[in-house]
Amino acid sequence: MPTLITNAEVFGPEPLGRQQILIDGSRIAAVAEDIDLKGAELTTVDAEGAYVTPGFVDALTHPCGGGGEGGFQNRTAEVSFETFVGAGVTSPVGALGTDSITRSLDVLFGNVMQLRRQGLAALMYTGSYRVPANTLTGDVARDVTLIDPVIGVGEVAIADHRSSQPTICELRRLAADARLGGIIGGKSGVVLVHVGDGRDGLARIREAIDGSELPARSFYPTHANRNRRLFEEAVEFSARGGFIDFTASTVPEFIDGGELPALQALDEAIRAGAPPERLTISSDAGGSLPVYRDGELTGLTAAAPDVMLDTLLEAMERAPDDFATVVAALTRNPADALGLPRKGRIAAGFDADILIIDSNSRALSDVLCGGEFLMRRGTIH
Ligand code: ZN
Repeated sequence: MPTLITNAEVFGPEPLGRQQILIDGSRIAAVAEDIDLKGAELTTVDAEGAYVTPGFVDALTHPCGGGGEGGFQNRTAEVSFETFVGAGVTSPVGALGTDSITRSLDVLFGNVMQLRRQGLAALMYTGSYRVPANTLTGDVARDVTLIDPVIGVGEVAIADHRSSQPTICELRRLAADARLGGIIGGKSGVVLVHVGDGRDGLARIREAIDGSELPARSFYPTHANRNRRLFEEAVEFSARGGFIDFTASTVPEFIDGGELPALQALDEAIRAGAPPERLTISSDAGGSLPVYRDGELTGLTAAAPDVMLDTLLEAMERAPDDFATVVAALTRNPADALGLPRKGRIAAGFDADILIIDSNSRALSDVLCGGEFLMRRGTIH
C-alpha cells in the first residue's frame, strides 16, 4: 500500500516548504502541496510540526570496528543496525581502518550485507589504510566492478604516522584502477583518503592529479577539518573540483589541538569560497579516536553515528538559516561524491530514504529506507 506523508516541512535538501510526499514501493512517487489520489487506499503519516529530510549518507563508517591502536584491549566494537537507524544514517558506507590485519574485507562485507538484509542501504569500500590495497578478488578494479556493495577504495591513509606512506605513483595507480572499475561497473570508483596530521597534507593528492588525466573528484579527502592548515588546503582542493569531507566525531583534546568542529568548518569553508555542493560531513562511526601526546597514545574512544543527527539538531537550534546547507552536507552532497544517483534527495524518482524529525521535541521519530519504516514513532523495528 502506498504511503502519504502529509503536513511536512520538507528539506529536499533545499527548503521546499509544506509538502506532501507519496511513497510507492521503494521510491518517492511524488512531492507536491496537494497530491490528488482519487480515493486510493493508502497509509497516511501526519507529520504536522515535523521537519522531513533525506536519510543521511554517511561516507565513512566502520561497521566491523575501525582502529584499535595501543593493543588488542583497544579494539573498537562493531556498529549495529539499531545504532545506525537511531542516528538517521540510511546509507552507511563501510571501510576498514587502521587495522586491516585482524579485520578483513570478508568480515566487512558480511557486516555490510547484514545491514542490507536488516533494511539499510549499506555500501562499502575495498582496500584499507594500506597501499598496495588489500582486496576481495585480488584486484581493486575487479572488486569495484564485480561486487555490488563496493563503490570505491578507502580509507587510504596519507600524511599520517599510521599510513603506509604511499608514493604519488601508487596513489595514481590506485585511483586509476578504482576509476576503471567504476567506469565498467557504473559506480563512482572514488578513493576516500584519510588525511592525517602530517605536514604533507594534500600535497600527494595534488601531485597525483597534476600530470595525470585523473579528475580531482577521483580523490575524496576526509578529516579535512583536522587542523587549520589542512582545512585551507582542502578548501582550495574543493575549488579545483574535488569533494571534501569533514568528520563530525571528535573529543575535547582534538578541538584543543586545533580541530575545527564540523559545523564551523562547513560555515567557514563556504565563506572562504568553497562550492557548498562539494562539502560533506561524515561520522567515522566505529573508528577509534586516539589521543597522542608527543607520539605516545594517551587515550582512545570510539566514534558513533549519532554525531550525524547531533549535527543536524545543532544546526536546527543554532543556525536555522543555514539548516538546508547542513542537510545537504549530510545527504545530497555525499550521495553526489559517491555517485549514488537515487540517494540524498526528496524528489520524485529517488529512493524513499526519509527522516521525520519532531521540531518541538528535537527528536528523530521516523526513519524510512527504501520505503520501509525502520523506525516508527521512536521505536526501531
Ligand atoms: Zn580516518
